[in-house]
Amino acid sequence: MKNVSVVGAGTMGNGIAHVFAQSGFTVTLIDVNAAQLEKAIQIITKNLDRQIAKGTLTETQKQSALANINTQTDIAAGVQNAELVIEAATENVDLKLKIFKQVDEAAPASTILASNTSSISITKIAAVTKRPQLVIGMHFMNPVPVMKLVEIINGYATAKEVTAAIVDLSKQLGKVPCVVNDFPGFIANKILMPMINEAIYSLYEGIAGVEAIDTIMKLGMAHPMGPLQLADFIGLDVCHSILNVLYEGFGNPKYAPCPLLVNMVVAGKFGVKSGEGFYTYTAGSKDLLVSERFR
Ligand code: NAD
Repeated sequence: MKNVSVVGAGTMGNGIAHVFAQSGFTVTLIDVNAAQLEKAIQIITKNLDRQIAKGTLTETQKQSALANINTQTDIAAGVQNAELVIEAATENVDLKLKIFKQVDEAAPASTILASNTSSISITKIAAVTKRPQLVIGMHFMNPVPVMKLVEIINGYATAKEVTAAIVDLSKQLGKVPCVVNDFPGFIANKILMPMINEAIYSLYEGIAGVEAIDTIMKLGMAHPMGPLQLADFIGLDVCHSILNVLYEGFGNPKYAPCPLLVNMVVAGKFGVKSGEGFYTYTAGSKDLLVSERFR
């Protein structure tokens, strides 16, 4: 494989383009929003500079990585030479189904189609294409250039050869692939989200405060970040929607989002991205202050 197209140039799309370009692949980064493409190239440049500062990359390697990336606002044109398309657009099922139909029509018949979705069924996405055996989940972690894991999700129809090819490819990128089957939340979120929900329940029930809950999980379980801070980082709206996917997908009330999480999302408190969640965030400041509401 040499030519890879990435659909969606947001947080994950720019990271995915970065690691493929740095590994020598020709990358076409596609987004409906031209300004987002410009921003993505700026972020990739900044992140490559950070690697140079750390001594893990040379200026020549940076220039060749950047030269490997082309941008495109038209999906059909952007996937016509791709051997692999990785979709990393907004987490919305109808949008993803629309994108996969478009890509299926425009990409060569042998092209593998992957989704970076955190929670949407790969089997459902595959079912809208004429090549379900070539559709797979390739779930990178944020930030992509730093995090080693790629959770690879086999849809119901994914061919064994396709899984093997994506496992090999992930290793070529310097990542550690883990293969799982397509059920709600896959493995990463099926285990992580109930832990986050339980931390929110513990706060809601008054068992402990924000700092105590996060410190216990950090120091007691050697987690680099407490579950409430991690929820703020992921986005409380995202946590809420993934818990609903688990709740509806398994039909089990143990996954129902905590009423406190629901209230916070309805009130627009999404965590880092909105400036307030369990903690408050001020641009330019690294201080972690518990939100007034929970002091
Ligand atoms: P994001 O909002 O930062 O970026 C999404 C991008 O998709 C935007 O630039 C948007 O313009 C673009 N887009 C929307 N419609 C499009 C279309 N029709 N064609 C092309 N581009 C389109 O989102 P993100 O955080 O990068 O998430 C992307 C995917 O990755 C989601 O499926 C999400 O669940 C998954 N994911 C996110 C994280 C994370 O921590 N952010 C981690 C793992 C997986």
